[in-house]
Amino acid sequence: MSRDIVLIGGGHAHVHVLVALAKRPRPDMRVTLVTRDLTTPYSGMLPGVIAGIYTAEQAHIDLVQLAAATGTRLMHAEAIGLDRVGKRVLLAGAEPVGYDLTSIDVGIAPSLSPIKGADEHAIAVKPIGSFLAKIEALIADCKRTDGPRRIVAVGGGAGGVELLLSLRTRLLAEARAAGIEAGAFSFALVTGGEILATHNARVRDAFRRVFKERGIDLRENVRAQAITARAVLLDSGDEVAADAVLVSTDAAAPAWFRGTGLKLDDKGFLAVGPTLQSVNDPDVFAAGDCAALIETPREKAGVYAVRAGPPLADNMRRCAGGEAPQPWVPQAKHLALISTGERYAVASRGAFKAEGAWLWTLKDWIDRRWMGQYQGKA
Ligand SMILES: Cc1cc2nc3c(=O)[nH]c(=O)nc-3n(C[C@H](O)[C@H](O)[C@H](O)COP(=O)(O)OP(=O)(O)OC[C@H]3O[C@@H](n4cnc5c(N)ncnc54)[C@H](O)[C@@H]3O)c2cc1C
Repeated sequence: MSRDIVLIGGGHAHVHVLVALAKRPRPDMRVTLVTRDLTTPYSGMLPGVIAGIYTAEQAHIDLVQLAAATGTRLMHAEAIGLDRVGKRVLLAGAEPVGYDLTSIDVGIAPSLSPIKGADEHAIAVKPIGSFLAKIEALIADCKRTDGPRRIVAVGGGAGGVELLLSLRTRLLAEARAAGIEAGAFSFALVTGGEILATHNARVRDAFRRVFKERGIDLRENVRAQAITARAVLLDSGDEVAADAVLVSTDAAAPAWFRGTGLKLDDKGFLAVGPTLQSVNDPDVFAAGDCAALIETPREKAGVYAVRAGPPLADNMRRCAGGEAPQPWVPQAKHLALISTGERYAVASRGAFKAEGAWLWTLKDWIDRRWMGQYQGKA
């Protein structure tokens, strides 16, 4: 039996699948990675890149190197659909690629449309691959004497909070080096509910304190309705002056999922069962932010995409050999280490909270160890 396994997207789960399938190859199996980008960012280290603690290279996996090291065929192309009858992945500007089994780990797309003017005036945090380039351009702009000074983040999840704190650290350091008065900058965060709504109250209070100590204007329980070239307009009728706005609110599922005929959840994400197979097509798997675990729903976080890697690899290998796939139950709680934009972090798990520089050291160790499995493999 010859088996073509096609992995769509080089996200957090698929990098593990590449390594796992190469460690236990089947002679009749060929693995192909279809990827829009040749490097893939590791979300856990992105705030550190923005803060200036890591280089961009340290926080990215080189998919060309990883494919070469794992004997994977790499196709540098964007998937735009699935022909499930002909069993082909449809690609933009390239011939379709056939599959026996395929898996989708393509992350999520930005959803700016609920906020008027966001398309034109805001920087979307998703997809994270193109976000870093936009942030570097903003930092360069801020170093101009007439550059942006009033920075506002919209969205108070861990991504938005870490991002604003990291950007503040970096901008103030760059401003000082460029001879610009740090006091010229202002920072604000606007969020529809409480900050860090999925974390416990002690974690929220720790970050409220950090924001206060740093003079960041925190607006909770108000929604951004519109963004203009000079301000964020709130549903309370107030406005927050802004020269640059970063939006890290909920992101949406890629639009091309709708044409695949695969069952989607009510938000448009790929509905998968406990084996990570699509609920209406066992030859299609999905993992990471783009998938919705119907029986065990979890928040969209890199940690779950990472954890899905081993069961996904195992089940694809089993199915390729005609064996039954095994169910996977992701853990209900996970330890989150949320940085304050410096070498300091707050730990959150259920009702547990701790903070300190040592937790940043632990986070740094965990993140580097994870990256070490996939970097420098050529
Ligand atoms: C600033 C920030 C900080 C964060 N920090 C954390 C954190 O500390 N911990 C945590 O758990 N989560 C964090 N997150 C969330 C985390 O980024 C996501 O949950 C995670 O990236 C999801 O991984 P994924 O594998 O689903 O997709 P991604 O990492 O987005 O990977 C998708 C891949 O698919 C490729 N791709 C996309 N579309 C196509 C296509 N059509 N065809 C081919 N290839 C395609 C892309 O090039 C990309 O390589 C953070 C998010 C942000 C914005």
